[in-house]
Amino acid sequence: MRQPEGRATIMTSEFREVYPDILALALPLPFELQSVNVYLVALGEGYLLIDCGMNTEPAFETLRAAMEARGLAWTDIRQILLTHMHPDHMGMAARLLELSGAQLAMHQVEADHLKLVTNGGRRIPWLDDVYRQAGVPAALEQRMEAHFFSVRKNFDDLKPNRLFSGGEKIETALGPFEIIWTSGHSPGHICLYSRDRKVLFSGDQILEYITPNISWHPGRDMLAEFMESLESMVSLDVDLILPGHGEPFSGHRAWIAATIGHHHQRCDEIFGLVHKSPQTAHRMVAELWRRQLSPINHHFAIFEVLAHLEYMQRLGRVTHRDDNGALEWHV
Ligand SMILES: [Zn+2]
Ligand SMILES: [Zn+2]
Repeated sequence: MRQPEGRATIMTSEFREVYPDILALALPLPFELQSVNVYLVALGEGYLLIDCGMNTEPAFETLRAAMEARGLAWTDIRQILLTHMHPDHMGMAARLLELSGAQLAMHQVEADHLKLVTNGGRRIPWLDDVYRQAGVPAALEQRMEAHFFSVRKNFDDLKPNRLFSGGEKIETALGPFEIIWTSGHSPGHICLYSRDRKVLFSGDQILEYITPNISWHPGRDMLAEFMESLESMVSLDVDLILPGHGEPFSGHRAWIAATIGHHHQRCDEIFGLVHKSPQTAHRMVAELWRRQLSPINHHFAIFEVLAHLEYMQRLGRVTHRDDNGALEWHV
């Protein structure tokens, strides 16, 4: 989880053609990341909308005005694809599905994860256990909980019309786009790739100035899954990456090498910390980031440290012992 360095996202309130028959729009977000991209891809008739932005009035108004400026009606959106079920990517999905009558598509694993979250009162069911085991102080836990309460309206119990497992194709006016399952940032995250056009919609899997947050999930090795999914993308020919946040860019192979290197380095830093003295994930966050994190970023940081610890535990590098409910990690 590296924050954007320097360059701010160019905010425009109109759709821009980033490739023939592909329109991009940055929608505002009420947190540090500033904006999330949505894309319209021309179909034989109408458009495919990739991601939906966050469920806020400024985001809805930005999208509404941009559609109107292009002479587009809601019903021109025939299909909606969600790269993953994070609030900034799916928040307006229910609203846009109702306005457009579009078909909804996402990965099966992500649909299952969404069901878990919506059934858990619109929150991750294992959140309390994770905070307790990570040794998070009660006051900070309350501040993180307050953030989750504020984003709950983004999680709707959606009923996808099409569920992917990876490898399926979507026919567009630019030819077929292939679904690539890229677990790591979220378990059912998908990218969309055109072999003919060498265009990749990367969601949050590949973001130019940010390493995507890797979130721990029970029973899974999310860091290993993330690095494996990145390695599987090295062989793709990509001229244009259209990411979930920030500007279009290229150079996925160098980015993948740098990002995998970053996570190995992170593992070594964490190993160094627990080698010095046994400690909880919460204490490691302060050592690793060395700056005040907002409650939501502290939450991401804890889950990211846990994902690295899980990875190293499976390799036999670290282990843990119970200390009054909190887990102390040691070598
Ligand atoms: Zn995300
Ligand atoms: Zn995102």
